[in-house]
Amino acid sequence: MSRFWSDVVKGLTPYVPGEQPKLANLVKLNTNENPYGPSPKALAAIAAEASDALRLYPDPNADRLKSAIASYHGIRPAQVFVGNGSDEVLAHVFMALLKHPAPLLFPDISYSFYPVYCGLYEIEAGIVPLDANYEIRVDDYIGRANGGIIFPNPNAPTGRLLALSEIERLLQHNTGSVVVVDEAYVDFGGESAIALIDRYPNLLVVQTLSKSRSLAGLRVGFAAGHPELIEALERVKNSFNSYPLDRLAIAGAVAAYEDEEYFQACCAKVVASRERLNDALAELGFKVLPSAANFVFAQHPQHDAAELARQLRERSIIVRHFRQPRIDQFLRITIGTDAQCDALIDALKEIVAN
Ligand code: PMP
Repeated sequence: MSRFWSDVVKGLTPYVPGEQPKLANLVKLNTNENPYGPSPKALAAIAAEASDALRLYPDPNADRLKSAIASYHGIRPAQVFVGNGSDEVLAHVFMALLKHPAPLLFPDISYSFYPVYCGLYEIEAGIVPLDANYEIRVDDYIGRANGGIIFPNPNAPTGRLLALSEIERLLQHNTGSVVVVDEAYVDFGGESAIALIDRYPNLLVVQTLSKSRSLAGLRVGFAAGHPELIEALERVKNSFNSYPLDRLAIAGAVAAYEDEEYFQACCAKVVASRERLNDALAELGFKVLPSAANFVFAQHPQHDAAELARQLRERSIIVRHFRQPRIDQFLRITIGTDAQCDALIDALKEIVAN
């Protein structure tokens, strides 16, 4: 704390990302990255762009990328907003569309950045508990006064999926505020709500290239919705940073959308490993929530989760544990390669046997 800090900064509780240790030979299953590298075509496009062209500013509107995303999803470029990771997109969404006098509704167990943005933008949080099975119940949101609704689908860190028909039912009942569906993990088992944006002018869908397209290090995310929602985001972006996406990011992201085969193959591998890991964890006595994401959320009835995480760490395996009511007995485990999952299972076998 310093006397030079503004009152806003004094009051902030910043987000704490999963750690990125600098150690070699770690089995790193803590931040939901993809265990497979980006498309070779994306890497080639980034290398080609690393040229004399870097003298020049990038396209402030990233039009090539908006067109690539729009044509991939069968929508118009005017329905697409792009940003420096979906975290930046979300930050602009909170400022542009969710900052209203009525509270913003989101689940008690959800992406822990949402309350941080509420703090930054002074938005009142309206916390809606998940049900006893850790599922979002749409009826708990319907009829509640709100300035907006946001949730991840599949939810994080639970991995549980809300059916598209339920999202549509929410949209039919909640027409007076924006509903944001954060689809960071949708490619691992969900159906995107982007298909609904033409019918619901208050629906905004946010996605990222960090997970299913293995580009967490490139920082690219986007939002899809009605052009008037997109215009609001552009207004904030152009009052904040004209060039959030650099030339390398635009080139790599466009090429990633052009390599459908690689994308599908990576997603299929992650999903197959997830099912394999589910079975192996169940055999060790873990209760695993059904996951549609690239991670599983698991608890062991006889073993304390923090202690399990500690003992895994001693064996150079890191998973995520949240010291938070209702979920402090769970571990969130990112799906690695089969070899990484096997290392995890071997370690857990030893630990739970003692
Ligand atoms: N939404 C959810 C639900 C997430 O888990 C994450 C990853 N931490 C993000 C958004 C942000 O991802 P990125 O900024 O890498 O696009």
